[in-house]
Amino acid sequence: RNMKVHNFNAGPSILPNEVLYKASKALIDFEGSGMSILEIGHRTPPFVAVIEEARSLVRELMQLEDDFEVLFLHGGASTQFLTIPMNLLESGETAAYTDTGVWSSKAIKEAKLFGYVDVVSSSKDRNYNFIPKDFTVPPQAKYLHITTNNTIYGTQWHHIPETDVPLVADMSSDILSRSMDFNKFALIYGGVQKNMGAAGATVVAVRKSILGKVTRNIPSMLDYRVHIDNASMFNTPPVFAVYISMLTLRWLKAQGGVAAIEKINDRKAALLYGEIDENPLFRGTVVKEDRSKMNVCFIMDKPELEEEFLKFTKKEDIVGIKGHRSVGGFRASIYNALPLDSVEVMVEAMKYFSMKKA
Ligand code: PMP
Repeated sequence: RNMKVHNFNAGPSILPNEVLYKASKALIDFEGSGMSILEIGHRTPPFVAVIEEARSLVRELMQLEDDFEVLFLHGGASTQFLTIPMNLLESGETAAYTDTGVWSSKAIKEAKLFGYVDVVSSSKDRNYNFIPKDFTVPPQAKYLHITTNNTIYGTQWHHIPETDVPLVADMSSDILSRSMDFNKFALIYGGVQKNMGAAGATVVAVRKSILGKVTRNIPSMLDYRVHIDNASMFNTPPVFAVYISMLTLRWLKAQGGVAAIEKINDRKAALLYGEIDENPLFRGTVVKEDRSKMNVCFIMDKPELEEEFLKFTKKEDIVGIKGHRSVGGFRASIYNALPLDSVEVMVEAMKYFSMKKA
């Protein structure tokens, strides 16, 4: 592939070269078996080893307590929007949700199918450009749901809220990008197609102790306990996506794990936000203290130049920076696999373009 491309896509997004190289080899000949990884049974020992390694790497990299089970499921984060309340919320009971963007509101919509939803805070009236941190959770709530990073708007919870009720988090777009006490959560989930692999697999880390408390009948495919009892193999898992996750997790471990990647992520974010704040042509769209270190959203003071800037960056092999239609401007996603070098190229392009226009 063209290694010169600076891939700022929001997801699916850049993966480590090493992961792509190994995955492409396994697609033809998996570990010298003479068969593709797509041609072997998912219950054969070589594939069981893959999914077991992926599950245990998640546990290890997040330093999860023993009560957690790690699953690789189908259906994306979007299926978890309904699976979570189905497993945790009795009809007539209340769950607390924070509304920090389109993905949170989709989670809220699904939860309403199963019980009462108390939206304890929202930043909707300001187009989700900040994290609404001032709220109280009703003590009877079965859980509190947050979206740790809001992919579209470029906001992120930098302090995980303290609460007495079980904490549930959609970490789709910042999973394993920064150190935190993952044991503060009762359930963590995310589509893996940003920081943790390829589209098709969804990771769930759930504390066993919160399960089995609702009385409704849960279809097997949506019952966490069924997946736990079957070691994440109740049905055929998305084998190739799980394999790519395993390779990506191995890569992350080899980088030094979450704390090490966080240092690089901090440098990338500081560099890019530094330029946005210094360069008179650009302006960040998010309240500073809530800025995401994964999705950097910004606009131009002269919107008529945006098209020209996009064309200019394209010539520099910078791809994927067009902002989501609901925010406009630009969004540079700087996930774990994006090298510092790509951010440097982006910053140079911003400087050069601004100089030309001065
Ligand atoms: N939550 C967040 C924070 C996301 O960014 C996305 C996808 N961009 C989703 C949920 C939906 O994930 P999926 O497409 O895997 O259902």
